Amino acid sequence: MANPTHLSLRKAIIAACLKMNELGINQGTSGNISARIEGGFLITPSGIPYEKMKPEQIVEMDLGGGYFGDYLPSSEWRMHYDIYLNKPEAGAVVHTHSIYCTALASLQERIPAFHYMIGVAGGTNIRCADYATFGTQELSGNMLKALQGRSACLLANHGMICFAKDLDKTLWLAGEVETLAQQYWIARQVGKPNILNKREMNNVLARFKSYGKQTKDLPKGEAMAVEPPPRRDNPKSATNGTSAKRGAKKPAGKAKRQPAKRAARTAKSRQEPAA
Ligand code: 13P
Ligand code: ZN
Repeated sequence: MANPTHLSLRKAIIAACLKMNELGINQGTSGNISARIEGGFLITPSGIPYEKMKPEQIVEMDLGGGYFGDYLPSSEWRMHYDIYLNKPEAGAVVHTHSIYCTALASLQERIPAFHYMIGVAGGTNIRCADYATFGTQELSGNMLKALQGRSACLLANHGMICFAKDLDKTLWLAGEVETLAQQYWIARQVGKPNILNKREMNNVLARFKSYGKQTKDLPKGEAMAVEPPPRRDNPKSATNGTSAKRGAKKPAGKAKRQPAKRAARTAKSRQEPAA
C-alpha cells in the first residue's frame, strides 16, 4: 500500500498498542486494537509484533465485515466488528490479556461492586462472557451479551475487552479495569470483600455521568452530580464591570473569619466515624 489512508490514525493505533504493552496490561502479540473510521474501522493485523508493526499493515475493514489490503486483520475482528455495529458510541476497541483480568476470567467470575470505580464500565459489575474459542462468532456473541449496558467485560479463560469514544479513553479504561481486577483479586486473598449495594451503586452511576467533566462541558440543564465548593472569584461580576481578581481577594465568608480552634473542631465533627 503506497499511500495508506488515515495515516495519523494508523500511527495512533500502533502507539496505543506499544503503550498497552508498556503499561503492563498486555504482552507479546496478544491483544488487538481498532478505531472507527467512516463506514468501517481500522484494526491491528494478526500476529505481528507491535514493535515491528508499520502503519500500512493496519487493516481497513468495512461495516459489511470485509477487509482491504494484503494483511489479514486480527483473528478477533468479529468482536471489534460486532462492537462497532451494536454500540454506536464506540470509537475504539481494546482487547488485552492483562494478568488479573485473565486470572479472574479463568475462574469465570464477574467483578462485583467491591469498589465504586466498577461504575466506569457503566454498571454495577463487570461481567465475564461465557467461554468460546478465540476468533469465533460464538465468542463475539457471548461478549455482546456480557456487554449489555456495559463498556467492558472479561472473556472467560481468555482476557478482557472494552470500548470508549476514542483510543486514549479506551486504553485508559482497559487500565482501570485491570486495576479493579487486581484490587479485587488481592482483597479476595484475605477475605470476602464487602459489596456495595444497588442503591449506592445507582448513586455512583448518577455521579459518573458528570465525573471528570468541567461545568462548561455539561449538557444544558444538567447539574454537577458531585457538588463543587463555592466559587470565590465571582465570574458574573467580571462581565458587569467588576474585576474577577478583586472578587477573589475578598474574605471568603464565614469560614475564613472562623477562629482556628473552632474551625478545627468543626472539621473534626464532620469526619465520618470509622466503619
Ligand atoms: P491477533 O494477533 O490475531 O490479534 O490475536 C491476538 C489475540 O489476542 C487473540 O485472542
Ligand atoms: Zn485474545
